Amino acid sequence: MRRISLILTCLFHFTLSIRSSEAQAYSYGASPDSIKIGGLFDGIDATEEAAFKHAVERFNIESVPLGRFKFTAQSERVLPHNSFQASAKVCSMMKEGIAAVFGPQTHESASHVQSICDAYEMPHIETKWDFRIRKENYLINLHPHPSTLSRAYNDLVEAFSWDRYVIIYEDEDSLFKLQDLIKGSAPPKRGVILKQLPPSQDCRAIFREVLRETEIRKVILDCDARKLGSILLQAQQVGLMTYQFSFIITSLDLHTVDLEDYKYAEANITAFRIVDPERSEVQTIMGEWGTINPLTDPMSTGRNFFSADQSGLFPRRSILGGFPYEQLSSHTAMLRTDIALVYDAVQLLGKALHILNQSVEIMSLDCDSSETWQHGYSIINYMKMVQMQGLTGHLHFNTSGFRTDINLDVVQLKETGLTKIGAWDSKFVNKINWKKKDVLETIQDASTLDLRNRTLVVTTFMTDPMTMWTRSDKPLRGNAMYEGFAVDLLHRLSLMLGFKYILKPVNDGKYGKPDQKTGEWDGMIREVMDGVADIAVADLTVNKERQEAVDFTMPFMNLGISILYVVPSVKPPSLFSFMLPFSLDVWIYMAFAFFGVAVIHILLARLTPYEWDNPHPCIEDPSELHNQFTFLNSFWFAIGSIMQQGSDIAPKAVSTRMVAGIWWFFTLIMVSSYTANLATFLIVQDLDESIKSLEDLAHQTKAKYGCVGTGTTASFFRNSPFPLHQKIWRNMEQMNKKHKVFMEKNAEGLKRVAEGNGNYAFFMESTGIEYNVERNCKLAQVGGPLDSKGYAIALKKGSRYRQAFSSGILSLQEEGVLDDLKRKWWKEQRKENQCAAGGDGDSVKPLNLKNVGGVFVVLIGGCIMAVGLAFWELYLKSREQASDLGVSVLAVMIKEFKFAIACKGGTKPAIKKSTESSNGTGSNKTKGSNPYLVEDKL
Ligand code: GLU
Repeated sequence: MRRISLILTCLFHFTLSIRSSEAQAYSYGASPDSIKIGGLFDGIDATEEAAFKHAVERFNIESVPLGRFKFTAQSERVLPHNSFQASAKVCSMMKEGIAAVFGPQTHESASHVQSICDAYEMPHIETKWDFRIRKENYLINLHPHPSTLSRAYNDLVEAFSWDRYVIIYEDEDSLFKLQDLIKGSAPPKRGVILKQLPPSQDCRAIFREVLRETEIRKVILDCDARKLGSILLQAQQVGLMTYQFSFIITSLDLHTVDLEDYKYAEANITAFRIVDPERSEVQTIMGEWGTINPLTDPMSTGRNFFSADQSGLFPRRSILGGFPYEQLSSHTAMLRTDIALVYDAVQLLGKALHILNQSVEIMSLDCDSSETWQHGYSIINYMKMVQMQGLTGHLHFNTSGFRTDINLDVVQLKETGLTKIGAWDSKFVNKINWKKKDVLETIQDASTLDLRNRTLVVTTFMTDPMTMWTRSDKPLRGNAMYEGFAVDLLHRLSLMLGFKYILKPVNDGKYGKPDQKTGEWDGMIREVMDGVADIAVADLTVNKERQEAVDFTMPFMNLGISILYVVPSVKPPSLFSFMLPFSLDVWIYMAFAFFGVAVIHILLARLTPYEWDNPHPCIEDPSELHNQFTFLNSFWFAIGSIMQQGSDIAPKAVSTRMVAGIWWFFTLIMVSSYTANLATFLIVQDLDESIKSLEDLAHQTKAKYGCVGTGTTASFFRNSPFPLHQKIWRNMEQMNKKHKVFMEKNAEGLKRVAEGNGNYAFFMESTGIEYNVERNCKLAQVGGPLDSKGYAIALKKGSRYRQAFSSGILSLQEEGVLDDLKRKWWKEQRKENQCAAGGDGDSVKPLNLKNVGGVFVVLIGGCIMAVGLAFWELYLKSREQASDLGVSVLAVMIKEFKFAIACKGGTKPAIKKSTESSNGTGSNKTKGSNPYLVEDKL
């Protein structure tokens, strides 16, 4: 294309050069410090040309006092779509010497001019929307890229949750910037109807045909801003300017359209805007712009209307005279996007040249020669690098010369006029920052206003205690037929928001789920989507799937899925229930303690001399001693203590008494603990709880389980990523093939659990479980909630009442009305049965070692001390004997110790006391004798 243009240009250059000398060149005298820039204008009105000149003058006003260069504008008018003429003009301007070319506006001419600029390295600046937007080295385009705009429109549609809409477009070119809207973001696919604006520009037939005969109430209007006025008027004539209809206008110039007549029409009219009229720079330009009389048609007059203001003063109405000023209405005096872009383009060029900061030598370029301009490349690169704040926001370009970091205002028509309700930033994906307060307030006001005196059809689901048939002996009609939590809630909201309602049970008796194959919804969700009902008020759970199909208000109740099962039955008492107060390990430890203490007793009693008694007290010097702690007696003593009966055996030595004391203490504690716990065990009945949790349910085969088949509980298991939930879902599907486990409604599941005798468990929402276990004593909840969610009111997607209903629910919550209603319907109403609080099998537990471990420690400590004492006693006695026998204490102790541990009966030979003889020889001391000591040659 570029090559063809160049050839064309060369072929006709000879002719052109002749013509160019004849053609009117509206050039200005240039001082040495002035840089000439060329502008080509082929648009249908003269405002852009005027804007170009005004922009140059404005630049000079700011630049000249700072001693910088100034621009001289050379503008040329060409016939629209005449690329031949445009090429000729650009060549002639280049011959005179220019620094950059602005325009032209039509696609065909622009691409020819671009080819020439590329060939001669001349910066080319465009400000027009062009779907054929080209990436050329010497081009910079200030208009937001079509793909950027397409993203913005798509984000707006997504933010409004539009899924079905009509796009009315002007020509095929528009479809490029509507790409994302047509494709939609998958899934779910949007329902889009495309209609082209007829040549007559009469849209009434389209409005009537599509919007009246389909359910669609959303329109995207893509046309030139100048046609918007008449199209909106047609919409009004056909009756679309009502609260039900919403329009998105793709033009960035909605603010230039007279919308006075639609301010009160209640239709939502929303658009983007790139020029923020509230910014001071924009207001300054608008002020000046309003005082300028743009040219009539310079082509026709052939006059040079603008000249550079040598004095640098502005505005100079005398020079600008000749244009019927009245032609500019107050709306066209609003800054159009293309005008603002021209201003920004001139400023950008000026800034780039200033930053380039080197003498830019303007040279005459001949389209016949191959000579190029040496500065062109630097200038265009600087323009791409420069960042500045313009009338159209932040100017920042990528290396291809397209704008990045675009900020657009979202504006909506209100009674006060076009109002900014949000902002879109190209840096963020899918993001519109709403001015929350304004939007919520306006939506709320409008919707509350609408709701007043409207009669809404409300679909509901018959389930206790949400919506129930009223118990009455008189025949009832209308809403009086129903009562319950949902009915009361609806009534309160209707009083608050001022609407009337007709309540009706859902036709197909389903909550609502999408068909696995077709994606078609059923139940209450379907009725709301189709407009069969305006809202759904029931125990309708909010989930992600449903949120894509309908809008939900704030939740009015929170809940979670849980298991409904039968109350566990009482286990028959066990034969060995007397064992229950202690756990097995305690019993085992006690047995060891018993044996240990008995054995220690034997040993210590044998070790300590004080347990050895004279069996015949009459014999002063017995031949043997007797010990009462024989094997049998020791065990008898220990068992007598445990049984709290005592025995006729009493320890005498300190050591054995110590062991006995500690053992008694031990048994005191153990027996008391046992007695206390046994009483509880005998009173509380043990429950047969085979299913205590979700895991138990999943791993058993005795009880079947299921849930409501068309509700969110089924969806929860179907879509859950957790293996246990997936297993439950697979099992339920498997079981359902043989026996029905998926129920139509909760009541069916409840009945089956109650009558199933433990053979069926039902997954149900905690609110329902709570209600039913209080009324049916056979039922109980097993385990805690598996998830957390809420019930909310469903409205049609995009409904403007959502905010009003949400606010209503919030108010009822804050006033405590929701709690009161819950108490009323859950605790008070229809409560014929009062179930006794069920016994909890877990409340009494056997005592384990941790509970009684301390007693064992005391027992062991006491025994150790007793052993120590026994040895001490042995030592004392052995010392006495050793001196009597004349042997060492250690020898006596070892001998006694060996005898003790040998456990040879309960008697031992007595030690003969030493005798003092007085038979003539004076003192003759005879050593005492101890048979087992003497034997050892001591
Ligand atoms: N509340 C549920 C729903 O809205 C129905 C009951 C259930 O799934 O457990 O789908």
